Amino acid sequence: MIVAVASGKGGTGKTSVACAMALALDRPLTFLDCDVEGANAHLFLHPDLKSEEEVLIPYPTIDRSKCDACGICVSNCHFGAMVRLGKKVKVMQNLCHGCGVCRLVCPQNAVVMSGRPVGTVHMGTAGLMRFFCGELRTGEALSVPIIKRIKKERDDTVIIDCPPGTSCPAVESVEGSDFALLVTEPTPFGMHDLRGMIEVCRRLEVPCGVVINRSFGEDREVESLCKAKGVPVLLKVPFDRKVAEVYAKGGTLLEAMPELAERLNEVFFEIMGLKR
Ligand code: SF4
Ligand code: SF4
Repeated sequence: MIVAVASGKGGTGKTSVACAMALALDRPLTFLDCDVEGANAHLFLHPDLKSEEEVLIPYPTIDRSKCDACGICVSNCHFGAMVRLGKKVKVMQNLCHGCGVCRLVCPQNAVVMSGRPVGTVHMGTAGLMRFFCGELRTGEALSVPIIKRIKKERDDTVIIDCPPGTSCPAVESVEGSDFALLVTEPTPFGMHDLRGMIEVCRRLEVPCGVVINRSFGEDREVESLCKAKGVPVLLKVPFDRKVAEVYAKGGTLLEAMPELAERLNEVFFEIMGLKR
């Protein structure tokens, strides 16, 4: 059972909910922090990180002794990562996605692929949990290869803390999950981005349900949206100052609201029933 905890925008409490569910289940599981541009689940789960692995993507270099500057690689690079400057061809490192097309099309066999590091995966344990967390290198833009690497980790129960938004990293994180738990807040921004995330799930054919965080009790607009989209509201986390106070001291949602543990377990079993 793979549950992706996602959100159309940052700051909704997605990581708090993901960590609270992992802690509430109190069983062996694997936690994947795929928010590689701002991973922070470790601050709540306090894993004992034991090892790390560098994530490499294929990277082309040009053998000048073979290259005749024909430009075929330049016109076939769909990412605009190659330019011809006079009689030389240059690879723009930050635009290169490592697809390898340039090597395939080069008639002179002048393109040599090697590995370029884009980030790191940290691995460890937190109680009964196996814990994996990705970290994008400073200045790098390609987070998807790191997410793909993290998602190779399998288990009977997997909780994924997804990156916020609806772009490639979020899509990559949710894809292939059994269920997506969409965390939102009852604000116009939260509603707007929830709409986008529901659409992402629909296109990926991943069933989803909603958690309304910082709820004031009556969240009519979010509930109407969910009803119209046929998406269940599975949990409401009430707005409460004590949550902020506990966070400020590095505590978890469950420490602020221990009564949520039972409900999070129920949500997990409801999800198992809702999953196709
Ligand atoms: S396709 Fe090969 S030979 Fe032609 S410019 Fe590119 S690297 Fe050089
Ligand atoms: S590996 Fe792909 S993205 Fe990178 S330069 Fe070659 S064709 Fe372009």
